[in-house]
Amino acid sequence: MSTADWYFEIEQHGYIQGVRVTERLAREATPFQRLEVLRTDVLGKVLVLDDALQTSERDEFMYHEMLVHVPLMSHPNPRRALIIGGGDGGALRHMLMHPVERPIQVEIDEAVVRACKEHVPAVSNGAFDDPRAELIIGDGIEYMRNHPGGLDVIIVDSTDPVGPAVELFQSPFYLNCASALADDGLMVAQSSSPLYMADELRSQVSNLRQVFPIVRTYMGLVMGYPGVAWSYTIGSKRYDPLQATVESIARRIAASQITTRYYTPELHHAAFVLPRFIADIVA
Ligand code: SAM
Repeated sequence: MSTADWYFEIEQHGYIQGVRVTERLAREATPFQRLEVLRTDVLGKVLVLDDALQTSERDEFMYHEMLVHVPLMSHPNPRRALIIGGGDGGALRHMLMHPVERPIQVEIDEAVVRACKEHVPAVSNGAFDDPRAELIIGDGIEYMRNHPGGLDVIIVDSTDPVGPAVELFQSPFYLNCASALADDGLMVAQSSSPLYMADELRSQVSNLRQVFPIVRTYMGLVMGYPGVAWSYTIGSKRYDPLQATVESIARRIAASQITTRYYTPELHHAAFVLPRFIADIVA
């Protein structure tokens, strides 16, 4: 079989994953990264940055629902919330389902927002045009250095720890996030694959522990990510994500008419139950 029409993602630790490409829709060298949009049979249209698949029409709900609803439901009353990265708009779309007053998103690369609006509009589904939302094109690391504080929830929807995202995984950035959060605020970050990037997960969790008294890792499935099993980690000043009861989450889902395909009140709790070898990585 010809390999010319396949997209392969080669993991640094010696694993490869591939998806057949039917059309190459966009290719651009932005000031920050190499951007591609591909049409595939299995995942629909996909966004690739620096040879790493970021999101796809088929699996975006798996990632964004777990990235956004778990931390927002872990806080009893999130009103002031911020997203770092997330240029495809999926995290913002899900955040807007909650009664957050003025969601702010800080994305470094306007080319990602532009390409996703044009080629994968279903992911943001108009979220950037919502009058409640504010998009700032800028470096999230710099932005957090100068934030006045008072946030309830910060969501870090970043690329992997390479290029402009490296510092988003390190303690100085987490310290700035902690200063930007209210006394009962919390943050979440995607924390990579526990199967193929265990060292990265371990160091990220340890960096969060230097800053937050409560740190909890949870798991979800994302079809297009290497190994499919993905992790997310919450750092929290006061609320333990497991304190949110199934009943209270169900009430909030009903009250805000939140529609999900992956996240459920029961899954909120189940996702924190880790296989022993993953619990050992984050111990
Ligand atoms: N779901 C994805 C994943 O886990 O692979 C992340 C998707 S989202 C498109 C990642 C975004 O983070 C990109 O658009 C990238 O431009 C943005 N980003 C990377 N470094 C950043 C920084 N320092 N400040 C703000 N945004 C950043």
